[in-house]
Amino acid sequence: MVETPSWTSEFKQSFKNLKDLYQFLEWPMLEELEAVALSYPIFVPRSLALKIKLEGPEGILAREFLPHKAELEEKLNQEGLADPIGDKTFFKAPQLIHRYASRALFTPTTICPVHCRYCFRKNELNGNEELFQQDFLETLSYLRSHPEISEIIFTGGDPLTLSNEKLEKYLKAFAEIKSIKDIRLHTRYPVILPERIDQDLLAVLNLASEHFRTVSLAVHANHAKEFDETNKTAIKALSQSKIQLLSQTVLLKGVNDNPQDLLELFDLFIEMKVRPYYLHHPDRVKGGMHFYLPLEEGRKLYQGLRNLLPGWAIPHYVIDIPGGHGKVTAYNPETTTFSGQLISKNGTAIDLQEPDFFV
Ligand code: SF4
Repeated sequence: MVETPSWTSEFKQSFKNLKDLYQFLEWPMLEELEAVALSYPIFVPRSLALKIKLEGPEGILAREFLPHKAELEEKLNQEGLADPIGDKTFFKAPQLIHRYASRALFTPTTICPVHCRYCFRKNELNGNEELFQQDFLETLSYLRSHPEISEIIFTGGDPLTLSNEKLEKYLKAFAEIKSIKDIRLHTRYPVILPERIDQDLLAVLNLASEHFRTVSLAVHANHAKEFDETNKTAIKALSQSKIQLLSQTVLLKGVNDNPQDLLELFDLFIEMKVRPYYLHHPDRVKGGMHFYLPLEEGRKLYQGLRNLLPGWAIPHYVIDIPGGHGKVTAYNPETTTFSGQLISKNGTAIDLQEPDFFV
């Protein structure tokens, strides 16, 4: 358990200014990065900045969290989308995305402990009105009139940006709706700002687990290099609580697109008692296309990983079909070749050409 310093003071001291960050890193700052950071602001906690510095400018962490000129390269990003998974179509109540019958995404904040440069919501989190729109009573009323929704997935932004009090308030309100049985929170805090995993948060999560069938925390990490003793200690505290720990990883070109790094990461999840859950194919996000890799390549990597992990620890390899067609399996046991079509959650065949720069 990490007790000091408090996570809020760590959060407030994060780098938001490019010059300050590069001064700290003691690396020359390319002028073109200023324009990148104007379109896609930076946010890097000091402890992460130190890890980036120690790994060096060509390191994995620099690639994940520092701005890159490729974010504004027009040719590369012309097939990138501002809303790659079609969130906008599925906002059915304030802060509530209802895309699949049995589960709904709740977006109570747009704030994260870090700005991941590959983020699928990187264009939306810059002040998107719908994500901010708030009328919790209307949200509750929608949930009461849709008893088919049994799981609420807190996302955002990062839901652990909420104070413990606010989190508890939301959880209590959901617990009063009998049809809601499961709660899941997707978060990067345990890895990026492990100070957030304090005693009060654990108490809130433990209490919630008495009112729901399951309370799960999906820990987002993409590379073993993201871990150190501090965040491993925080994750150990979570693993000893009453909640279920799941993993969430995005396959990213230049970060983890090789069999050794993927295996090392998933082995680490298993050691930390975090059950492998999701391996996402990268979304076609505007400003993040330099992280994209062809589906065929992803399938080959996943095929290799399947052979190396225990059966129960094989993550679901999934892809969100652009345009709001939903998340589907990206794996095809018949072939690693991609035909150019995927079957949507409604059973419809959707054409999906690989971006031009791979052709
Ligand atoms: S924590 Fe998640 S939502 Fe926030 S920037 Fe990173 S990927 Fe995006």
